[in-house]
Amino acid sequence: MFDVLVIGGGNAALCAALTAREAGASVLLLEAAPKAWRGGNSAHTRNLRCMHDGPQDVLVDSYPEEEFWQDLLRVTQGQTNEALARLVIRTSSTCRDWMRRHGVHFQPPLSGALHVARTNAFFMGGGKALVNAYYRSAENLGVQIRYDTPIDALELRDGRFVAAHAGKERITARSCVLACGGFESNREWLREAWGQNAAGEWPADNFLIRGTRFNQGVLLKFMMDAGADTIGEPSQSHCVAIDARAPRYDGGICTRVDCVSLGIVVNRDAERFYDEGEDFWPKRYAIWGRLVAQQPGQIGFSIIDAKAPGHFMPPVFPGVQSQTLAGLAQQLGLDASRFEQTVNDYNRACRSGHFNHAILDDCHTEGLSPVKSHWARPIDTPPFYGYALRPGITFTYLGLKVNEHAAVHFNGQPSDNLFVAGEMMAGNVLGKGYTAGVGMSIGTTFGCIAGREAAKAAGKREENHAAA
Ligand SMILES: Cc1cc2nc3c(=O)[nH]c(=O)nc-3n(C[C@H](O)[C@H](O)[C@H](O)COP(=O)(O)OP(=O)(O)OC[C@H]3O[C@@H](n4cnc5c(N)ncnc54)[C@H](O)[C@@H]3O)c2cc1C
Repeated sequence: MFDVLVIGGGNAALCAALTAREAGASVLLLEAAPKAWRGGNSAHTRNLRCMHDGPQDVLVDSYPEEEFWQDLLRVTQGQTNEALARLVIRTSSTCRDWMRRHGVHFQPPLSGALHVARTNAFFMGGGKALVNAYYRSAENLGVQIRYDTPIDALELRDGRFVAAHAGKERITARSCVLACGGFESNREWLREAWGQNAAGEWPADNFLIRGTRFNQGVLLKFMMDAGADTIGEPSQSHCVAIDARAPRYDGGICTRVDCVSLGIVVNRDAERFYDEGEDFWPKRYAIWGRLVAQQPGQIGFSIIDAKAPGHFMPPVFPGVQSQTLAGLAQQLGLDASRFEQTVNDYNRACRSGHFNHAILDDCHTEGLSPVKSHWARPIDTPPFYGYALRPGITFTYLGLKVNEHAAVHFNGQPSDNLFVAGEMMAGNVLGKGYTAGVGMSIGTTFGCIAGREAAKAAGKREENHAAA
């Protein structure tokens, strides 16, 4: 029998497996995906948010605990557990040395990185390189790894883990860490969570999943049915507007379209529906998925003219292009006269001041609804460009309630041998909203805590100092 069973194969699972192994436990890690697709959403990441009191290797200036905490408080609108959040924040200042020991390299941020050079440490080679390094280190340390092994049920007794089931196979261990992500890839569950709109549409049917197809929420559902304490709302998720041509799964970050604040966004009826210049794009990109989800047909169109390129990270896939507004509308499948009317109304309402995309400038609209608060310049210079947008779900927030030991709870009582980490519990810290890079900070912190506690529960003592 193994000491520790880790279920999942992304960042949180790997941090747990490595930490448990460092503590002397024998560890078996079960990943639902085949080897080529291992690593879950973590393989798509680029950075983690780190507290630091002064310049540190790849991080500039400082990002003190209080500022990080205030950022979290603001984006979650208070839906966060302060003690657990501060645990994540403090761990984020020390975890990079541990990560480096397991082969992760960091690099200075490149331009176009959503202004996070001060707050976020970027992985050299992205999340794919990070998970590859962790798998390599885990193998070298003797962690047993099995791919293609989705766990469909657990055996629990009095709040304790007994065994996991993969089809007919029964796998026992002295303790267990659940780190199998959210339920964002489960279309039926998304449908249930988002429901039907007034037009009779099921908005979730048009959602694209930015990450892995393997996060089906099977064990989250199982644990809920088994009476585990939960946190968060099923309809809360990180949801951005992405290129409508993205694949249904695993499109990753290259499907992002970052020119919204430089032009206008219209819906299927060629009408604007929200202030595109409300705030800096890094602070607003995560609301646009939900905004597009609320439009008819769950589609939007980001429109810019020749003045915009050069002011945003160019999308990997070019948009449609035309010398005329009518030509653009035709290619996007929009009613040309309605579209021209919308653009003309907007152009007339623009009060152009001193355009500066680096500040909340004074270019705005007057007498137009919805207003455009900043960076409003007429769309009048061909060629015109258009990008169709769909809601892209990054991950869901519904999860299992934990304490500072990452223990799963039943009726307020912590389990003594069942732990949870990563997206499956991120809702304890992030009940709502998002601040870039915090997903990996939460997963690294609680992955390491869960691994350490699982090893302890299996009777092992810590030998090395892990990240948390
Ligand atoms: C495109 C994209 C970009 C992102 N960029 C960033 C970023 O730069 N910084 C950041 O902090 N966050 C980012 N995130 C969010 C980040 O990916 C998550 O917060 C983090 O990876 C969660 O780690 P995890 O280990 O909990 O989940 P995952 O990495 O998703 O891992 C879950 C694992 O569980 C496995 N699994 C699922 N069900 C089962 C089962 N029943 N049995 C066995 N295994 C199972 C899956 O195959 C997968 O390996 C991004 C997400 C996406 C999609």
